[in-house]
Amino acid sequence: MKRRDFLKKAGVGAAAAVAATAIKAPAVLAKKTYNWKMVTTWPPGLPVLQTGAVRLAKRIEDLSGGRIKLKVFAGGELVPPLGIFDAVSNGTVECGSGAAYYWAGKNPACQWFAAVPFGMNAQGMAAWFHGGDGLKLWEEVYAPFNLVPRPGGSTGVQMGGWFNKKINSIDDYKGLKMRIPGLGGKVIAKAGGTVVLTPGGEIFTSLERGVIDATEWVGPLHDLRMGFYQAAKYYYYPGWHEPGTYLEYFFNKKVYDSLPKDLQQIINAACMESEVWTLAQFESQNGAALQELITKHKVELIKFPDRVLNALRPLAEEVREEEAAKDPMAKKVNESFKNFQKVVGTWGTISEKAYYDDIVKKYSLKG
Ligand code: CA
Repeated sequence: MKRRDFLKKAGVGAAAAVAATAIKAPAVLAKKTYNWKMVTTWPPGLPVLQTGAVRLAKRIEDLSGGRIKLKVFAGGELVPPLGIFDAVSNGTVECGSGAAYYWAGKNPACQWFAAVPFGMNAQGMAAWFHGGDGLKLWEEVYAPFNLVPRPGGSTGVQMGGWFNKKINSIDDYKGLKMRIPGLGGKVIAKAGGTVVLTPGGEIFTSLERGVIDATEWVGPLHDLRMGFYQAAKYYYYPGWHEPGTYLEYFFNKKVYDSLPKDLQQIINAACMESEVWTLAQFESQNGAALQELITKHKVELIKFPDRVLNALRPLAEEVREEEAAKDPMAKKVNESFKNFQKVVGTWGTISEKAYYDDIVKKYSLKG
């Protein structure tokens, strides 16, 4: 039955029929489709990071009923890995995925949205973004670059790194050549180490040949894949320098703002879903990879001595304050971060920490 006949038979008046026709108009407009490109800083196929970006693209396409189609390009495929911020900012492509600490040169404030040495873990970061003013500040930092950021999920606490020399005291960092980027690298430099910025693909060889004495990377899943256990003797934990590194998605602001509201909400929801998915992958797969490193590859796992962590902590605070002093926005973000960490940290001490202190006896690595 034709719609008009149905309306007549149902006794609906002419006015309602006109109204029904009028309602059709937005539906036609809503069929507009968008063909977007997403560029990332990650190598092709990199588990969770690149595969997560590909997964998000598919989710946005599915949730939007195909109205947004996203083609994902790994680092270097379309844009160099560290060129993605500019490419999205100037509208060459619509969106990107990386980690905000790569953009310290744009504004030092960016670093707080990825990882702060001795800063908050994944749970604290998520709380700051979605329960505090973390995401609001992030949007404020990215807006002048014509970008809209969305948290992309956390790696969880990273590992301290692979060393060919034991770290028994802070003095052991003197002259140590370590590949460690970002604020963590600045801390190591303060401790007397030599920071080397080796590209991902050359780390293994550099470590094996003694060009560097140590390297950090991510966590067991990614470290196992890199084969570092064949080139270094000791695997240190915890990753005090990256306690809950957050990944990011960002969108060209003009493009995002011009979208119908429902598509904006679909993007927001898909990114938030991706946050949960990302941490879940890291937690589950890191656990399995750690078992393999210990049992199959007989890796010697060592916790940084408390005296080393206690000596690194004030250096990290110095680095953080120095970075914050470089820019008014970084100062504002640092203050928010510090105040938030004080509150959630205190709560975490009597919740998460107390719980872990107890269950760790049951799941001890030695046990
Ligand atoms: Ca790392």
